[in-house]
Amino acid sequence: MKESEIIRVFMSEIKDKILGDDAGYIKFNEDWILITTDMLVWRTDIPDFMKPEDAGRKVVTMNVSDIAAMGGKPKAFFFSLGVPKDIDENLLRRIAKGIREGSRRYKIRVISGDTNDVSEIVIDGGALGIGKRLLLRSNAKPGDVVCVTGELGRPLLALILWSKGEDIPREVLEKARDPQARVEEGKILSEVANAAIDISDGLSKELWEISMASSVKIVIEEDALPIHPTVKELSHNPTEIALSSGEEFELIFTISPENIPDIPFDFTVIGKVEKGRGVYIKGKGEMPILGWEHFVGFGNAKR
Ligand SMILES: [Mg+2]
Repeated sequence: MKESEIIRVFMSEIKDKILGDDAGYIKFNEDWILITTDMLVWRTDIPDFMKPEDAGRKVVTMNVSDIAAMGGKPKAFFFSLGVPKDIDENLLRRIAKGIREGSRRYKIRVISGDTNDVSEIVIDGGALGIGKRLLLRSNAKPGDVVCVTGELGRPLLALILWSKGEDIPREVLEKARDPQARVEEGKILSEVANAAIDISDGLSKELWEISMASSVKIVIEEDALPIHPTVKELSHNPTEIALSSGEEFELIFTISPENIPDIPFDFTVIGKVEKGRGVYIKGKGEMPILGWEHFVGFGNAKR
C-alpha cells in the first residue's frame, strides 16, 4: 500500500484530525503543546556515508525540525527503538551517543524510550514542544512573500553522487550527514510570519502543501532560488535538485512584506502568495511535485 492510502484508511477510521501540519497541537492554558513523531528506518533512510552517530542525531533533528516549523520551542525527545536480537552493542552505543548529541544541541531532554526486537533497525522518534503563536501551513495569505532559510540541494546531491559511487565533496557530505533544525529561526518567525513548513520531502512538495492547505496560489522565481554553489557546479539541473532535495530541514515561510525588516537572520525571498490555486514557476507554468526518489530511488539505490 502507498503511504497516502495508509493515511486515508487511518483518517477514515480515526475521526480526529491526526495529520495536516508539521506537528499536532492542543491548547493548554495560554500555550500550545506541540507533539510530533517521525520514524527512521535504517535500511532505507541511512546511506552508508552516514555513521550510527549521524543517524541518532538525525532522528532528533527531524522531529525537532517539525516543532520549529510550527514556531514552537522544543522541550523533549522520546523514542521507540526496534532492533534485531543479535545487534552489536557498539552500534547501539553509537546510535545512543548520536541521540545524546542531538538532544544537547537543541537543549532538550530525552524523557522516554521503549525497545523491542524486530528484524531490522527502526528508530521511531518523537518531540514535544511549546508554542505561543503557531505557524500553520493553512495560514499563507495573498500578498505574503515566500521565503526560505539556507542554501538548497546538498542532501540530494550527496545521494546522487553516492548512488553513482562518486566522491562527495566535504561541504556536501557535512550537510547530508548532519543537517540542523532551524529552532531559533522558527521561534522568531512565530511572532512575525504567517505560515511555515520545514523541508523534509523537498521544496516543491512543501510549497504544494502550503498552497493546498491555505487555498492560495504560489509563484516562485527560479532565479531567486538559493542553490548551494557546489550543487550549481556539479549538477546539470541545479533547479530540479533544489526543488527535489529532501531532509534539508530548512524552513519555508510566508510573511507580510512589512514584517520582513523584523527578521534578524539570513533568508531568501523566492516568490509570492497570490489569490488562486497551485504552485507555479514564473514564466514556466505549474511546478511539478518532485521528490528525491525521482533521482535516486533511494532505498534501492545501492542494492
Ligand atoms: Mg515537517
